[in-house]
Amino acid sequence: MESHSAVTGRVWNFSPGPGVLPLAALEEAQRDLLCLPGVGASVMEISHRSKAFEAIISAAEENIRKLLHLPQHYHVLFLQGGARLQFAMIPMNFLRGTGKAADFIVTGSWGAMASKEAQTQGQVRVVWDGKTEGYRRVPTPGEYQVNSDAAYVHITSNETIEGVQFRTEPQVGDIPLMCDASSDFLSRPVAIERYALLYAGAQKNAGPAGVTIVIIREDLLQRCPNDLPSMLNYLKHAEARSLLNTPPCFAVYMVKLVTDWLLREFGNLAKVDEYNRRKAAILYEVIDQSQGYYRGHAHPEHRSLMNVTFRLPNEALEKKFLAEAAAAGFMHLEGHRSVGGCRASIYNAMPLEGVEALREFMLDFWKNNPL
Ligand SMILES: *Cc1c(COP(=O)(O)O)cnc(C)c1O
Repeated sequence: MESHSAVTGRVWNFSPGPGVLPLAALEEAQRDLLCLPGVGASVMEISHRSKAFEAIISAAEENIRKLLHLPQHYHVLFLQGGARLQFAMIPMNFLRGTGKAADFIVTGSWGAMASKEAQTQGQVRVVWDGKTEGYRRVPTPGEYQVNSDAAYVHITSNETIEGVQFRTEPQVGDIPLMCDASSDFLSRPVAIERYALLYAGAQKNAGPAGVTIVIIREDLLQRCPNDLPSMLNYLKHAEARSLLNTPPCFAVYMVKLVTDWLLREFGNLAKVDEYNRRKAAILYEVIDQSQGYYRGHAHPEHRSLMNVTFRLPNEALEKKFLAEAAAAGFMHLEGHRSVGGCRASIYNAMPLEGVEALREFMLDFWKNNPL
C-alpha cells in the first residue's frame, strides 16, 4: 500500500470509525507517552483522581464547552459503553416508567437500531422512517407529527452508514430532543439549546474508541430514576463529574488533544464546518459531474458532509475500484457491509490534500475504466 508520507508511512484513511485522528494529536501523545511533562509517568499509569488527570479531564470538558458554546446548564459527561449504550441508557432514564412513548425519526441504520433498543424499555413510536426509500434523505417538517405527549424525540444527526445528514434540527417544541451525533460531533456549529441530550462515541470525530461524550441539560438530571444502577444513571455520573468509576483515562486524554487541535487549528466550529464543506464539495462534484458513472446514495440536499456514499456502475467495477484504491493508499473506502458500495468518511482530521488525492484517483479510474 502506497503511503502519502515517507516519514510516517501513513495512508489516506477514509475509515468510518474508528476514524482518522489529527497527526498533531497523535504526535503529541507519542511524545508524552512514556512520561507526561511534570508528572513522571504515562497518563495510563496515574490515578484518575490525581491532580494531573483532573487537569486533563477538566481541559477536555472546557474545550468541548468552548467549541459548542455550552451554557452552564448543560453538563458534559465522559461515559463508557459506546453510543450503543446510550441507545439503552436514554430510555432507561427517560422512558421506562413514564407511561409515555418515545418518538423516533429514523433516517438510517443507526436510528433504526436506537429505536429497537429503546423498545426494550418502553413504548416507541417511529414517527418517520426512511427505510422504504433506502434511507436517502431526512424528512421535511410537514412529513411527520411528533406527539405533544412524547417522552422525548430521538434523531440521528448524521447517519454514518447511508451518508444522510440533518441540516437543521427538527422542530419539536417543548419535547426533549435526544440526538445521536456520533459521526458529526464537533464537525459544525450546533444550536445546542435545541437539545436536551446529545451524545457521541468519540471514535468518529473526537478521539479514540472507549469514551462516549454526553451533553445533557440540567433539568433532565432531576428526572433520572433513583432505582437504576448508578452506572446507568446520568445524575450519578454528573454528580461524580464522570469519575464515578475509573474513566477511560487514555481516551479522555486523546479527546483533550483532539479538541486542543481543533481550537488551535480552527478556533471555532464555523471554521471547521467551512473546511468540511470544502472537502465534501470536492467529492460530490466528482460524483455529480461523472455523467452517472459515480452515483451518490443520498439526495443532494440531504448528503452528509462526513460520509460520502456512492456506487459505481456495477459490482465488478466497485470491486476493482476498491482494490486499486487500497493499493494506491486510500484506506477503507468500502461501504458498510449491510449496504455495499463505497463510502469515503471525511471526518475533521481528514486533510484537504487527502480528499484532493481521492478526487484525482476517482477521475483517473473513471477515465481508465469507461463503460
Ligand atoms: C458508530 C456509530 C454508533 C455506534 O457507536 P459505538 O460507540 O460503537 O456504540 C452509533 N451511532 C452512530 C451514528 C454511529 O456512527
